[in-house]
This record gives sequence, C-alpha cells and structure tokens, in this order.
Amino acid sequence: MSASLTEQTGTAQTGTNEAEVTRAEARTAHNYHPLPVVVAHAEGAWMTDVDGRRYLDLLAGYSALNFGHSHPVLVAAAHEQLDQLTLTSRAFVHDRFADFTAKLGDLCGKELVLPMNTGAEAVETAIKVMRKWGYEVKGVPADSAEIIVAAGNFHGRTTTIVGFSDDSDARDGFGPFTPGFVTVPYGDLTALEAAITPHTVGVLIEPIQGEGGVVIPPDGYLRGVREITARENVLFAADEIQAGLGRTGRTFACDHEDVVPDLYVLGKALGGGLVPVSAVVADANVLGVLKPGQHGSTFGGNPLACAVGATVVDLLATGDFQRRAADLEALLRERLEAMVGHGVVGVRVRGLWAGVDIDPAVGTGREVCEALMERGVLAKDTHGSTIRLAPPLVISEDDLNWGLDQLADVVSR
Ligand SMILES: *Cc1c(COP(=O)(O)O)cnc(C)c1O
Repeated sequence: MSASLTEQTGTAQTGTNEAEVTRAEARTAHNYHPLPVVVAHAEGAWMTDVDGRRYLDLLAGYSALNFGHSHPVLVAAAHEQLDQLTLTSRAFVHDRFADFTAKLGDLCGKELVLPMNTGAEAVETAIKVMRKWGYEVKGVPADSAEIIVAAGNFHGRTTTIVGFSDDSDARDGFGPFTPGFVTVPYGDLTALEAAITPHTVGVLIEPIQGEGGVVIPPDGYLRGVREITARENVLFAADEIQAGLGRTGRTFACDHEDVVPDLYVLGKALGGGLVPVSAVVADANVLGVLKPGQHGSTFGGNPLACAVGATVVDLLATGDFQRRAADLEALLRERLEAMVGHGVVGVRVRGLWAGVDIDPAVGTGREVCEALMERGVLAKDTHGSTIRLAPPLVISEDDLNWGLDQLADVVSR
C-alpha cells in the first residue's frame, strides 16, 4: 500500500471516540473487528459519531437500513406501537399480526407468512419446512432429505448453517455439523441438475451472493433453477435477506429474471433498521406442513415487529425505493467502472449495490475502508480485497457522488 494511504489511516482518533472504542473492546467477545468509529446518531444516509464527526453510510447495516436511518414513517409507527402493546408471544393473537402477514403475503404473491426475528432463524425455518415437506408431501424416506446449496454462500451463523458454508472462518472449529446438505458451484445449472437425487427436497440459494462480494450469477441462472426445481419436484428457496426489498432496483432480486421461488426468505430491511424482523413466505402447500408445536419463536411476529414490518411493506408497495435504486444504478456503475485500472480491478453492480475488488497493490479492503473512514465515509470490506457498497436507498445523488469521489481518491493514490 502507498505511503499516503498509510498516513491517512494512521491519523490518530481523538476525543470520546477513541475512549469508547477502547471501552467496547475491553468487555466484548472479539467476534467482530469494527472500524474504530463510535456512532451516536444517524438520519437518512448520514451517521454522527460521539465526537460530532459526520460520516456517509455506504453500508446501510448490510441492507438492513434500505430506508435509511430513522425513516420518519417507520419511527412513527414504532413509537405509536410502543405505547400500545409490544409483546404477547404467539400464545395469543394480537391486533397487528393479521395486517403484517396479509400485507407481506400480498407483496410476495404468496398465501402464508411465518414470522421470525433474525435472518438465520428464517433460513433455519426454511430448512425445516423443506425437510418436512420432503417427508410428508414428496415422500422422501425419513431422515434422508438433501438440500442443495451453492459454494460461496452466506446464510447466517447457526451451527447448521455454518456447516454448509465453505468459508473457513465461519465454519472451522464449530463441528460436528448437520448432515443433509450438498454444495454445488454457484451459477452452474449443469452441476445443480446433476446433484439432484430422489432425496433432494430443496435448493437454497441467494439470488445474488451479498457476503460473497455481491456476486451476480450468469443471466438465466435463476430461471434455470426455477425450471429444474419445478421439473424435479424440488422446492426453490431464495434467500433474499440481503438482496431483497428494493436493494437491486426491484422488490426481489428474483424479479430480474421474472422468477418466483417456492419460499422467500426475508430479513434485514424487513425490520426497517429498527427491530429484527424476518420471515419465510410461501404457499399453503409448503408452509402448511407445520402444525402447532412443531416450530416457533417467542419474539417472532411480535406487535412491535409487525407494526414496523407492515409499514416497511407499505413503503415498498409505493415502488419509490425500488425506483430509486434502479435510477441510481447507472451512476454507481459509471463511477465505479471508471475506477477500474485506477486501484480497482473489478466491479459488480445491481441496483444500488456493488462489489468493488480493490487492487492488492493499493492495500487490503480493510485499509481502504479505514482510509474512507478518515474522509467521512463508512463502508465494509468482505473477503479481504472486496468492498461492498450498499448505501441507504434514500441517499441523494450528490451525497453518492461525494462518497464515490472519496473512494476514487483513496484507491488511486
Ligand atoms: C445477513 C444474512 C443472513 C443472516 O441474517 P442475520 O439476521 O444476521 O441472522 C442470511 N442470509 C443472507 C443472504 C444474509 O445476508
């Protein structure tokens, strides 16, 4: 990395920020390596740290903040609900439940919704549902169900889920793992077709691999997955947790190929950046396999989550956020492609979402993110040399341009 970049990243943090980083590190498991910025306030696409410095957010909570920080309509819905009712557990029905499930089901064009909290829980739910469907509907022999997943996947952090990850950081040291998963290369329909056996109950893939570095599969892949799974009587579960809900310029990333999976697995932006809300959405012939007592969650579908989630669906139903992502895609692509050969070796863009591969001669992804932070831009590296850009969909064109100016400057030094 160049000397000037070292200087930038070496700039000392001052004030409360530094003290708070030290305090946080002292009493926390080090399962994250955050950038040394302590955020105290945020609105729209901007965050402010404890020393009053402002930063443009180009990560948006890994797409959990698609609507921006503190979207006034979402905050109002949460405030209103806080004064009424926050939790009943599913032992009782509450008055925000039907509204949320009906709206989300309609958005997905599906009959039933199973609300959970985190993305990993929604993925676990999809796995359990596909297995049960396999035994009860498809007639797969007991305890022999197979689910096909893709290399390079990221579906969360439970022991079952990391068991079919091929990222050694995510996986090593956490075995033994749950059997019943078969990995095929991402984007390869021939391999997918060849992996299907009479015991295959489902295919679980991300329509775009977010954590993998915004990896976009070849044109026709999602359509191919849909055709093969339909023909072979296998369920197609699309993990749209990071790709879905407006990020790519459409409501779902699967929409780009006019594909409707059997199960939508949703999370992140579904909670509007306020609360964890996730869900599996599917028709009754799939989700109907679950009977009382067979799956659940104390917090899943709680009144606060439903109030926020229903409002998220209302925002998406306007189409404004999807349009915004689609409109800004050209600018994002044009600016990033202009950086190729100037510190950037590759870019992938879909909607307001990009994977930017940094030239190793410039520095690591982490070093570039540290240099961006010094300039008031927050982004996150993934897999060493890639930076993922996922600004809140409410970002202004000027702010986006300014943030990209900083990136262009940092990588071209
Ligand atoms: C973030 C993510 C998950 C896991 O969600 P959590 O809320 O962190 O459990 C699962 N799948 C994809 C594609 C994700 O991006």
